[in-house]
Amino acid sequence: MPGAIDLHTHSSVSDGTESPSELVAAAGRAGLSAVALTDHDSTAGWAEAGAAAREAGLTVIPGMELSTRFGGKSVHLLGYLFDPADSGLVAETARIRRSRVDRAEAMAQRIAADYPLRWEDVLRQTGGEGTTVGRPHIADALVALGIVADRGEAFAGILHPRSGYYVPHYAPDPVEGVRLIRAAGGVAVLAHPGTRGAANVIPQDALAVLVDAGLFGLEIGHRENTDDGKQRLHQLADAFGLAATGSSDYHGAGKPNRLGENTTSPAVLDEIVARGSGSEPLS
Ligand code: AMP
Ligand code: ZN
Ligand code: FE
Ligand code: FE
Repeated sequence: MPGAIDLHTHSSVSDGTESPSELVAAAGRAGLSAVALTDHDSTAGWAEAGAAAREAGLTVIPGMELSTRFGGKSVHLLGYLFDPADSGLVAETARIRRSRVDRAEAMAQRIAADYPLRWEDVLRQTGGEGTTVGRPHIADALVALGIVADRGEAFAGILHPRSGYYVPHYAPDPVEGVRLIRAAGGVAVLAHPGTRGAANVIPQDALAVLVDAGLFGLEIGHRENTDDGKQRLHQLADAFGLAATGSSDYHGAGKPNRLGENTTSPAVLDEIVARGSGSEPLS
């Protein structure tokens, strides 16, 4: 029997704790037949993951989790098999990554008013130049300083949007995000759209605009989507003819999510591979 398919994972190129090759090796040990590397706003891990795919005997689907914002709330878009050299996407992700650094420094400065945290402590937790910096790196610095026990405690308190320390970063509208991924030959899937419950799933008219822009699917299988959120997402997928995916959102030791805990069907992956024209699966 072929192994499972997991289309949402993070390496140390963003806020995962394993290098791309370590992640792919872990995916092999977990018995996956295909794994997508979807670091936040970066394709910097693709080459290393692709090289490790041969070794691990599985297929790596090159991808990315693109940060967007809608109605003041963070919305994540998974993009697969797009051209990593596409100028529109390259420019937009560079802008987001730059803003993420400024934003993390601004948050560290606010936190430093109440806790003994320095910006250098945060920088030490990132992989250096080229890492997509996020709140998880601030969390890791807080853990290293003994201020919180783990990332979860940091996110529930100091890093929470209502903590008073939160600063947003630049992010485009989701429609612009779908257009960018499609223009680069990629396939776009709305990531974990049901985490805030059925009542807070994207409104039908807003989803219709994303579908017009070329949205392919909804990530329904995700541990943070609520049960009623998933129910609503299945209704919307049926109504709009969208594919349903499922994935782990693995972050190594940074989150409890385990590889293969949610999976995508081979038929849906075949459709993604058939539609993606900007790059090839790596195996
Ligand atoms: P940011 O994009 O910098 O605002 O940070 C969001 C990232 O933090 C997401 O990729 C999540 O995976 C991660 N994250 C959110 N909540 C938690 C949590 N409770 N524990 C660990 N990581 C989290
Ligand atoms: Zn993340
Ligand atoms: Fe996400
Ligand atoms: Fe993610």
